[in-house]
Amino acid sequence: MDRNAKITAIDDWLPQTQCTQCTFPRCHDYAVAVADGNADINQCPPGGDITIRGIAAVLGKIGKPLNPKFGITAPKKIALIDESTCIGCVMCIKACPTDAIMGAAKLMHSVIEQDCTGCELCLEPCPVDCIEMIDQDQTSDYSWRWPDYSPQATAQARNKTNAKILRDKKRSNQKSSEKKLRELRKEKGSDQIKGDIAAVMARMKTKQEQKQE
Ligand code: SF4
Ligand code: SF4
Ligand code: SF4
Repeated sequence: MDRNAKITAIDDWLPQTQCTQCTFPRCHDYAVAVADGNADINQCPPGGDITIRGIAAVLGKIGKPLNPKFGITAPKKIALIDESTCIGCVMCIKACPTDAIMGAAKLMHSVIEQDCTGCELCLEPCPVDCIEMIDQDQTSDYSWRWPDYSPQATAQARNKTNAKILRDKKRSNQKSSEKKLRELRKEKGSDQIKGDIAAVMARMKTKQEQKQE
C-alpha cells in the first residue's frame, strides 16, 4: 500500500471529531503521523479500541490498549450555549473545527446539533463560560464501527473541517497580500506603484503585438 492509500485507510478509522486529544490539530494530521511512523496507533480516545484495531489491521501490527495519557473513551456529548449569558464575541465560532456554531458579532450564538462532534474546543475560548457539554439523545447505529458517530456524521465532519481549513487559508493569503501591498505603498509610494504596474502592462501589450505580427 503506498503512503497516500495508507493515510486514507487510517483516516477512515478516525471518528473525525477533530478534538486534538491525540496532540495533532486534526484527525487527518494524526493519520499522516501514524502512516509515517511519527505517532503510535493508540492515541485517539474517541475512537478507542475500535480505531486501534482498525489502524493495526491497516499497518499489519498487533493492537494495544489506548494510551490513557491522551484521554479516555467516553460517550459523545454535544455543546450547548446558554444564550442568555452569551455576549456574541465569536471566539467559539473561530475555535469550532466543523462550523457547528451559528451567530454573528454581538448577537447570541447557538450550536447546530447535527454538526457538533463534541470536540470541546469551544469551551476554553469562551470568556463568560456559557458553553457546557450535555448528553446527546443517542440515535445509536450499532451496525457502524462507533455507535456514537454515524458514517454520515463522520463524513460531514471531515468535509466541513476541510472546507474551513481552505477558507482560513484563503483569508490568511489575502491578509498577507494586503499586508505586502501596504508595505510596498509605504516603501515606494502609490504613484511609483501605479507607474510600475503601467510599465508591466505596457510590456505585456508590446509582447502581444509582437506575437500578432
Ligand atoms: S478524533 Fe480526536 S484524538 Fe482521534 S484522531 Fe481525531 S483529533 Fe485525534
Ligand atoms: S460546537 Fe464546540 S464541541 Fe461542538 S464541534 Fe464545535 S467546537 Fe466542538
Ligand atoms: S465564546 Fe461564549 S460568549 Fe463568545 S459568542 Fe461563543 S458562546 Fe457567546
